[in-house]
This record gives sequence, structure tokens and C-alpha cells, in this order.
Amino acid sequence: MTESWGQFKSFEGKKFKALDPEFTAEVSKLIGGQDLTTCFQCAKCSAGCPVSDKVNIQIHEVMRMLVFGLTEVLQTDMIWLCTTCYTCQERCPQGIDITDILFGLKNMAYRKGIAPLGYVTSAKALYDTGKLYSPTEWEREDLGLDDVPELDVAETKKMLDKTKLRKLQEDM
Ligand code: SF4
Ligand code: SF4
Repeated sequence: MTESWGQFKSFEGKKFKALDPEFTAEVSKLIGGQDLTTCFQCAKCSAGCPVSDKVNIQIHEVMRMLVFGLTEVLQTDMIWLCTTCYTCQERCPQGIDITDILFGLKNMAYRKGIAPLGYVTSAKALYDTGKLYSPTEWEREDLGLDDVPELDVAETKKMLDKTKLRKLQEDM
């Protein structure tokens, strides 16, 4: 099931489920996850994060939730609003590959059916049309461009059929 952005509400006052050591162990196996437990909460990552004023939970708090095994972390908007700028990763004094961990968390969330609608519709558009975005005729006209030629999507579909993305889409 696909949820909209509306699900990513504030965590203020929220009671979390019990700590889940298996979840922490699972995250530790992600790319970058092996150093997770060395995080000492200096918040240097959050201090440089360009989306820190847009998210309901900061990146250093995400790291804390992972160490504590709080699976609710997959419902935070931080993992989807991350611009993958790698600033946090560059700044971390512990050398934790934070951004890489976020990639893994996106995959975990997607597998559980937790993803913003826009991402899911983009993936579907890519499969159906071979494009993530279709410019309108007037947009191209304004720029003096010809119409976009029709794409043969058979090859694209063949490639995407071999990815896990397709399987995930079918399950959503
Ligand atoms: S910068 Fe590194 S050590 Fe500091 S809070 Fe962020 S992840 Fe943890
Ligand atoms: S990679 Fe993501 S979490 Fe890290 S600083 Fe950039 S936007 Fe923030």
C-alpha cells in the first residue's frame, strides 16, 4: 500500500514500540551500517543538513533511532527528503557513511509499502512511458522545441522487469 506525505507527521509526544535489536542488526548490514553504533550524537550531521528545517526528525535523531532499533524510523520524512548531498557523511567525526545508510533505509521502507506517492507514481511513469516526466506541448513550444518523439518502451520495460523495483511495484 502506498501512503501519501500526510503520514509523516510530527513525532512529538509519540510513544515508540519496544526496542528491536533485530532491526538494528539488519540496519548494521546495510552499506555504511557497520559503523552505526559508533555514533555519539554530536549532531554535526544535522547542523550541516540543508533540509533540517523541513523534516519532522533530524538526521542525528534518525541515527539514534537506528541504534535503539526503533522501526518507526522508516516512517520519518527524513529518509525521503534527504537530497543525498553527502554533507552529513563528510562532516561526521566518526566517519559513518550516513547518506549510504539512508539509501538502504529507503529500500527497506519501500519494501514495506512506505513511500511518498510521488515516488511511486514516478516509478510507474518510468515503466509505462520510459520517462519520469513528460513536458507539456506548450512548454516545448515556448522553448521553440519540436515535439518529443514517441519512445519505444519495450527495451526499457525489459530492463526494468529484471529489477527488484518492478517486483516492489507489483506488491504495492
Ligand atoms: S555526525 Fe556522526 S557521530 Fe555525530 S551525530 Fe551525526 S552520525 Fe552521529
Ligand atoms: S545527505 Fe541527506 S541527511 Fe545528509 S546532509 Fe545531505 S540532505 Fe541531510
